[in-house]
Amino acid sequence: MKTVYNFSAGPAVLPKSVLEKAQSELVNYENSGMSVMELSHRSSLFESIIKNAETLLRELMTIPDNYKVLFLQGGASMQFTMVPLNLAQNKKALYVNTGSWAKKAISEAKKLGTVDVEVIASSEDKNFTYIPEINKEDIPQDAAYVHITTNNTIEGTTIYDLPDTGDVPIVADMSSNILSIDYNVADFGLIYAGAQKNIGPAGLTVVIVREDLIGQADVLSAMLDYDIHAKNGSMYNTPPTYGIYMAKLVFEWIKEQGGVSQMEKQNKEKAMILYDEIDSSALFSSPVNPKDRSINNIPFITGNDELDKKFNQEALAAGFENLKGHRSVGGMRASLYNAFPKAGVAALVDLMKKFEAENG
Ligand code: PMP
Repeated sequence: MKTVYNFSAGPAVLPKSVLEKAQSELVNYENSGMSVMELSHRSSLFESIIKNAETLLRELMTIPDNYKVLFLQGGASMQFTMVPLNLAQNKKALYVNTGSWAKKAISEAKKLGTVDVEVIASSEDKNFTYIPEINKEDIPQDAAYVHITTNNTIEGTTIYDLPDTGDVPIVADMSSNILSIDYNVADFGLIYAGAQKNIGPAGLTVVIVREDLIGQADVLSAMLDYDIHAKNGSMYNTPPTYGIYMAKLVFEWIKEQGGVSQMEKQNKEKAMILYDEIDSSALFSSPVNPKDRSINNIPFITGNDELDKKFNQEALAAGFENLKGHRSVGGMRASLYNAFPKAGVAALVDLMKKFEAENG
């Protein structure tokens, strides 16, 4: 089999042992004679998969009992609409604009018309290369929430210290650093994440929401209503069963590795190897403000489009997949999620050194 290092921002690399376990159970899950894909979502076998997935996630993230865990569909993008629809109708919703995904969240909330959307901080003035200050004085205490993006996948910034929002709940798009940084769930009102980076295959979206924040909205379409999903244990309709099964395997793997704090430690070590190279190189540089740098998505550039292109071509030829930067920013981007191996970062650094010696 061809060996590659997959630097994709998502869908992203999964732990090999998880894929092998899924393979070993594929055609005959627990001696049922069926695969998980073929099981009824109402069967006791699947009931136990979804229950275990939730229990493991609660354990890994220390999710308090007064939070619901929902396994939904529609991607993180669907949450750009569901969050304001459920939490902020006829109310004020505050947003921190830290990048392309935050902008989409803002624009979707504005479309609803019934939500008074206000952007209280933005880093757009410098191409989203830093995390703006979020001042408590700018947060009206009657607002429904403050929406942040904990990790900006495209721009490579992270909010490490949560803002003081007083009594206003923080809603977080945690798509690209859930289970990678050890945040305290109790500091948030709602967390959402598409699965395809640190959780499992695309098609599953995880929502963790404080109970008192749901069930307040007027009548909503059932599929858009957190309360209906919560009351039905994420089984109002057919949930993404195979995605939930894969997520369960990934949660087991994270637990075996030592949990989220261990993931964070390893991710920091991996990121430091690359940042050290970028900072000591005369050719490569990072556009991001050092204290706001993401450990999960690391953009870097040579400052010369032709050289970026050449580097990307050589990287691809060397078996480094998906290293090309997002089409909106160019350059390179190394996404180093939980399952990305340290050896892959070392190999990338070797290639960068070689490239610099030949082209610097
Ligand atoms: N938010 C962030 C921070 C993301 O990185 C992404 C996907 N890359 C999204 C939202 C959109 O997610 P989805 O494709 O699951 O809708």
